Amino acid sequence: MSDVRIAPIAETLPEFLEKHQFSAVAVLVDYHTQKFCYPLVKNWLSKHTIIRIKAGEEYKHLHTCETIWEALTNANFDRHGLLLNLGGGVIGDMGGFCAATYKRGIAFAQIPTTLLAQVDASVGGKLGIDFHGFKNHIGVFKLPETVLIDPVFLQTLPERELRSGFAEVIKHCLIADAAKWDEIRRRDLTEQNLSELVAHSVAVKQRVVEQDPTEKGLRKILNFGHTLGHAVETYFLAQPRKRLLHGEAIAVGMVTEAFLAHQKKMIDATLLAEIEEYIFSVYGKVNLTGADVEPIVALTLQDKKNQGKQVRMALLDGPGRCAFDIPVTRAEMRQALDYYRG
Ligand code: NAD
Ligand code: ZN
Repeated sequence: MSDVRIAPIAETLPEFLEKHQFSAVAVLVDYHTQKFCYPLVKNWLSKHTIIRIKAGEEYKHLHTCETIWEALTNANFDRHGLLLNLGGGVIGDMGGFCAATYKRGIAFAQIPTTLLAQVDASVGGKLGIDFHGFKNHIGVFKLPETVLIDPVFLQTLPERELRSGFAEVIKHCLIADAAKWDEIRRRDLTEQNLSELVAHSVAVKQRVVEQDPTEKGLRKILNFGHTLGHAVETYFLAQPRKRLLHGEAIAVGMVTEAFLAHQKKMIDATLLAEIEEYIFSVYGKVNLTGADVEPIVALTLQDKKNQGKQVRMALLDGPGRCAFDIPVTRAEMRQALDYYRG
């Protein structure tokens, strides 16, 4: 398990660099993290290379990897160099993937700067890129040397991004901590203690990943909300004006998959109503039409958790509890999406 530190970057970064003595350091940023986050880290770095890529999920692909590998090559990076991924989940997933494959693997460290990356993407060693429209289709499991989380980065994050990341916080409470779910669902995002929730989410995720690093079993519970959520996200990727942020799609996934859990008598009507009410209050309701339903259902067949043609989901089986590998039919998914629309 990689080491995750939640503390001011001014403490953790110099300490980490001092301990390891890398032959070279490169910092991967996008336009926004170069502007808002890089000023907070550059003072702690001696000579380094900056690699800047364009911001956004649409650049999480092979062409951008080529730019990154090229920059490392031009900087004469050897196998003792370090790639510091300073940014959200896109930077972390793609930078980690590039580091894991450059010269068969160099060290990398995550400095997550979005809420989503702090509570989810930076922890657990899943790295990758999108391919031919499929999310995270190409990738590897590899842990970073360290994850340095500083909540100060969240201060410049746009509100919509913060709200999107909060979906993973909700997910971690629902699958693993009933008392915490009860606490957060009484407050809006603006009233939450984010530093404390970041620490809580990281602890939940680490506990699960430690028991099942390569997702053979238990780790699948972290996919609650993500089967239908990813399908919804992928579906709207092709429609720029309706495009959803990851967490916004996961919010749809959590409601529809909670409905499925209720249909299968795994959760009671009270929990389903609580989830719906809270998620609609935080995210509103995505406008799905009847025509949207079938292609979304079809996209769930691409899900990496499936076995053969059978869709399997992580479904809640009580507040703070989640089961995995539950078979779900296309008809049931259609019904869940219709329920959401209704
Ligand atoms: P992102 O990396 O695109 O960041 C969102 C936006 O915020 C970008 O425009 C970015 O430039 C900007 N930004 C980042 N930090 C900022 C800051 N501090 N101030 C101002 N702007 C800032 O997206 P994301 O939501 O962080 O991550 C989404 C990605 O994470 C998806 O590709 C998803 O697949 C991946 N993910 C991976 C895992 C995993 O386990 N590896 C888990 C969940 C999600
Ligand atoms: Zn997610």
